[in-house]
Amino acid sequence: MNIILLGPPGAGKGTQAGFLVSERGMVQLSTGDMLREAKASGSEMGKKVAAIMDSGQLVTDEIVIGLIREKVSTSKASGFIFDGFPRTLKQADALGELLEEMGQAVDKVIELRVDDEALVSRIVGRAEQAKAAGQTPRADDTEDALRVRLMAYYKTTSPLIGYYYAKGVYERIDGMGPMEEVKAALASCMDA
Ligand code: AMP
Repeated sequence: MNIILLGPPGAGKGTQAGFLVSERGMVQLSTGDMLREAKASGSEMGKKVAAIMDSGQLVTDEIVIGLIREKVSTSKASGFIFDGFPRTLKQADALGELLEEMGQAVDKVIELRVDDEALVSRIVGRAEQAKAAGQTPRADDTEDALRVRLMAYYKTTSPLIGYYYAKGVYERIDGMGPMEEVKAALASCMDA
């Protein structure tokens, strides 16, 4: 089963994907994680995307589609959780084609619904938690970058809701409650 977790920054996609990995043995593919790794490794691609990511804007479709293609085509996993990908209609088309080549499909697209106001406090909280734990917070977990990330979500990513609705695979769950409640809602959505 291949699922896409859709939702703005701070909706809890990464957290919920983590639960699915540990409890269902699915494989999480997060383009954000892949790009942060590339950035940390100082590779040519990492250097190219660093400033764009820090500002909160989206990196090019070509880069992220290339990353996903490489992972999906070399993995033996039987189910993926796409977290933070696709974020544009072009990426969504590319993912559909890639999975079709492999005789697979996007089975469910699950949107985590959250209030915009809650997002700001979640993101700012995430940065504060990281600092308190002696870690460096994400460079894009600032209010300025968050505003850019939210705009990118509403302008460029949210049309995917209609796209996947029309394909008959769109589902939506409430992402506002405590982690465990969201986890339960996600489980029943996946098992339905
Ligand atoms: P995330 O961890 O998913 O919030 O991603 C962090 C940043 O990586 C985003 O703000 C973008 O700059 C970049 N990024 C991650 N995934 C994508 C994607 N599918 N398309 C374009 N940019 C992406």
